[in-house]
Amino acid sequence: MTKDLLDYFRQKQKDYTTETVFDTQCPFCSVQCTMQLVEERVVGRNRYKVLAKDNPTSNGRLCMKGLCAHQHALHPERLQFPLLKKNGRFVRVSWEEALSFIRDRFTAIQTAFGNDAVGVYGGGSLTNEEAYLLGKFARVALKTKYIDYNGRYCMSAAAAAMNATFGIDRGLTNKLSEIPHARCILLAGTNIAECQPTIMPYFRQAKKNGAFIIVIDPRETATSELADLHIKVKPGTDAALVNGMLAVILAEGYVDEAFVKERTEGYEELKKHIEHIQLDDIAAMTGVAKEIIAFAARQYALAPAGMIFTARGVEQQTNGYMTVRNFLNLALVTGKIGKIGCGYGAVTGQGNGQGGREHGQKADQLPGYRSIENQAHRQYIASVWGVPEEELPRKGVSAYEMMQKVAAGEIKAMIMMGSNPVVSSPNAGFVERALKTLQCFVVVDLFLSETAELADVVLPTSSYLEDEGTMTNLEGRVTWRPASRKRLGEVKHDWEILCELAKVLGKGEYFSFSSAEEIFDELRVASRGGLADYYGITYERLRRERVYWPCPSLEHPGTARLFEHSFAHHDGKARLAVVENKYEKEEPTEHYPLYVTTGRVLAHYLSGTQTRRSPTLASRQIEAVMEIHPNTAKKYKIENNALVKIETKRGAAVVRSKYSYKIREDTVFVPFHWSGIQNINQITDDRLDPYCKMPGFKICAARIRSVVDLEKN
Ligand code: SF4
Repeated sequence: MTKDLLDYFRQKQKDYTTETVFDTQCPFCSVQCTMQLVEERVVGRNRYKVLAKDNPTSNGRLCMKGLCAHQHALHPERLQFPLLKKNGRFVRVSWEEALSFIRDRFTAIQTAFGNDAVGVYGGGSLTNEEAYLLGKFARVALKTKYIDYNGRYCMSAAAAAMNATFGIDRGLTNKLSEIPHARCILLAGTNIAECQPTIMPYFRQAKKNGAFIIVIDPRETATSELADLHIKVKPGTDAALVNGMLAVILAEGYVDEAFVKERTEGYEELKKHIEHIQLDDIAAMTGVAKEIIAFAARQYALAPAGMIFTARGVEQQTNGYMTVRNFLNLALVTGKIGKIGCGYGAVTGQGNGQGGREHGQKADQLPGYRSIENQAHRQYIASVWGVPEEELPRKGVSAYEMMQKVAAGEIKAMIMMGSNPVVSSPNAGFVERALKTLQCFVVVDLFLSETAELADVVLPTSSYLEDEGTMTNLEGRVTWRPASRKRLGEVKHDWEILCELAKVLGKGEYFSFSSAEEIFDELRVASRGGLADYYGITYERLRRERVYWPCPSLEHPGTARLFEHSFAHHDGKARLAVVENKYEKEEPTEHYPLYVTTGRVLAHYLSGTQTRRSPTLASRQIEAVMEIHPNTAKKYKIENNALVKIETKRGAAVVRSKYSYKIREDTVFVPFHWSGIQNINQITDDRLDPYCKMPGFKICAARIRSVVDLEKN
């Protein structure tokens, strides 16, 4: 081809190329990395480029999930129109028909069985505005006490422990950029390298600066590769391990006596309890040598600055709340909190796991972390909403307990927004059967998820590229997510759907919003004076900066480091707690001899509704794979790369085996991002933590058998 001809074609291509740039934020994890999607239309074909943008949390980094997020948002399976099930099949209907159907069913059910016969189930990926509005919708439009959300399965143990210990629950007590100042870092049950990869450089920098890194996890992970000491604890014994560390700290005199005296309550009880702890017993219980326990305790206690991070590995247990309290005991008795490089972090999983738990989606909560059982709090919120206080419902029950109420026929209808409990709940088979009994089930989602398939009505919602709003990241920093891509078909934003539903239910006057910003302005007022005070944060400000709450006035800079001078309890003191070594959990038996633990992989997110639809991410890991130690595999005659049936008392899943020396011989690991026969939550334990109602996802007793062998017999 001649140069002239080539130039001609290049010019023609330019003439037929359009480029649109969308500023946005990753819809997945709690770091909330910022980015630009560049959409090029070249001679009738679309091309996409993703560019990382700088921000003070992830500093211009993106992981593969962020880079591929647009693939699900642009996926052809995105729902574009309301669907109504008729004769067992979904058919496209108008918004008017869908909303009228919901109004008629909800009204009839509430008239016959009372307001609480309708439940509301939310999600930790909703924006702050939508989480706030969903809480208001439940209490004002439906007047039901039954509302909770999937964050119950994520953050409830750490949140409840922080509330009890500090008097406030914010994921990180310090900003991430303080991590490199720590000289000992304890990472318990957290796989940051796969779940929040863009914050790993903070830990690498800390290590370069001389920090000693301790990882507590039954398996070797991409995160434990960074560790100076990896404690491969027996599943479910983390609280006992910490008791062992506390015993060493107290016996060897590493307690910060002045800090404990001035700033804590409950030390004498804790001391008495720890005096009875025998390191030999702890070693036997945890499978960790007592010398290792003592070494870890000294490393942490003697470091001039230290931080502790926990995540679902220790929190998703039926004693997750008490386990976190024990890690907080460790920080408090050594005085490692409220100073640079000294603090605690519960590494939030979902994108808005933090903001989503602050403004009213929880069963017992009103906006700003107010309590629905506190008279003054009720009166304040009722005045903001313009309703009589006595009309606000009282507290309801947790997410899984709502499913039990559905199964029992007490909750007869439900609206669900941004959640897929058929995959994400423990004992998922039970949840699926329960949801099928609902007389009216409404799901708002991007896709026909496994849960949406069970609905009577499915309402199509907008994605992160289309829906503007605010999120609060794992640091407690409020971020503004711009979104300007045109919506597909007849898609509406979550907040628009709630406003329109409220209108058909006769409550439109309380939901007359025309933008996310207007809702945020009401949220600011509703949160004013509460623990999570957003009053000083405005959209105008967020367009320029990410702001930490509490931020009580427009002039306030936001609070990056908590607890420098006092804790949030009325007397300013933190509470130490006595934590027992043992608790009720499912233990291996002759019939179910192995521990099963679950978790995430780098390429996928939660129930996989989005990431399994991204071709790039799906191809990175196409199925659920069970990590098993070769010695264990030999014992149970499991070949590598073979299909394995994994069973507990509750159900079974079939997954592929993968030999790994990185896991304990008494434990197998399976990720939870897949559905159907591969859904590991078919077998997980649905016992709940008595304090925070977190299900015991992380430990159950199972048996495994080769599918080939089963077919032969
Ligand atoms: Fe950032 Fe998390 Fe998205 Fe990865 S998944 S790009 S770490 S927000």
